[in-house]
Amino acid sequence: MSKGVVTKVMKYTLRYIGGCGDFHKMQEAVWKLQRQTREVLNKTVQLAFDWDHRSREAYRTSGEYLDIVKETGYKRLDGYIYNRLKTDYADFASSNLNATIQVAWKKYMASKSDILTGKMSFPSYKSNQPIVLHNSSIRFSTEKYGVPAAELTVFSNALKKENGLSTNPAFEILLMDGTQRSIFQRVISGEYKHGQCQINYEKRKWFLYLTYTFEAGKTPLDPDKILGVDIGETLAICASSTSEWGRFVIQGGEVTRYSKQIEERRRSQQRQATYCGEGRIGHGTKARVAPIYATEDRIANFRDTINHRYSKALIEYAVKHGFGTIQMEDLSGIKGEKDFPKFLRHWTYYDLQNKIEAKAKEQGINVVKVQPAYTSQRCSKCGCIDKENRKNQELFCCVKCGFKANADFNASQNISIKGIDKIIEKEYNANIE
Ligand SMILES: [Zn+2]
Repeated sequence: MSKGVVTKVMKYTLRYIGGCGDFHKMQEAVWKLQRQTREVLNKTVQLAFDWDHRSREAYRTSGEYLDIVKETGYKRLDGYIYNRLKTDYADFASSNLNATIQVAWKKYMASKSDILTGKMSFPSYKSNQPIVLHNSSIRFSTEKYGVPAAELTVFSNALKKENGLSTNPAFEILLMDGTQRSIFQRVISGEYKHGQCQINYEKRKWFLYLTYTFEAGKTPLDPDKILGVDIGETLAICASSTSEWGRFVIQGGEVTRYSKQIEERRRSQQRQATYCGEGRIGHGTKARVAPIYATEDRIANFRDTINHRYSKALIEYAVKHGFGTIQMEDLSGIKGEKDFPKFLRHWTYYDLQNKIEAKAKEQGINVVKVQPAYTSQRCSKCGCIDKENRKNQELFCCVKCGFKANADFNASQNISIKGIDKIIEKEYNANIE
């Protein structure tokens, strides 16, 4: 079932490898293009506006709009604009010039009527516009340079000649985290398609804005990719995986806040009633407790809605990132306050887990329950188990290796490890010996 194509952009840092000659010459050529990009964008909007304005004037005087083919020799205005600009902007590789024009043209067309009627101000592009690269102007490679790299067809032959450049520049693409890496790999493998891209020089660094597209909901679920879900003390949900960068967090607190609000309103109503001499006190037990039950019903309903929303968001995250397995703490063995004080206080955890489990199964995600013992005291980086690791409810700080993190995040990292309860058992026994 296709939900359509999703388009996203990932920003990568680039490092010049070479390929075309002197770095400074290359940089000068790119800067020149960057300046010209701004001009092309602004001129495109100007030419489009001029045409539409003239055409409307013609309609007012003669009752007929201008005929584009007769007036310009082109079927479409963007074709005409390209023809008008191509001589002045011969430094662009031609497909990139066209792509640049399209950027401004599409923006203009989307708000044309508002611009023409003066409802919207005339769009104008400021300096430091990124250079637009048509998708055929970027070629990725992992082997040629020994690193993930991109060869960019960015200069026309004329510009190369002018700056003494032999060919097109190549840049290393720095993969700084798991998300950047996995997107790059999927583009390389063809699972994701890359579209039009942009390069920009910002704060003395080069960046690539890689546009990529994929079919929504097509990311295959990998059962070996485990998402650890901690249902929280300080955070309502914290989910992460040791194999992948990123985390899913729901702050929570809505139910508590809602309960407090309702409680306050109830008290204030009671006070008011007492003050007016119509207090419920003295009207018999039934009348007195009835509003409290109503309150609890309302809180329960609210909690139900919230838990549905939380679990839905979590499962969407899991599906989007291809997590085929979710691991959670097994709360079923917990019976009383002694075992797990937070459990009785907020039995909402149990309800939330059930909802997560049900929604996971609907999506074909496996749910694995692990024993919760020590998942919050164990360092997810080095495996050290120590009560002292847990500085307070919120902060985890390993006494052995110094790893510092939000305590729920650290717990979710542990929970995401395959067979974590067996590992912990081993580590714990080793510690005792
Ligand atoms: Zn540690």
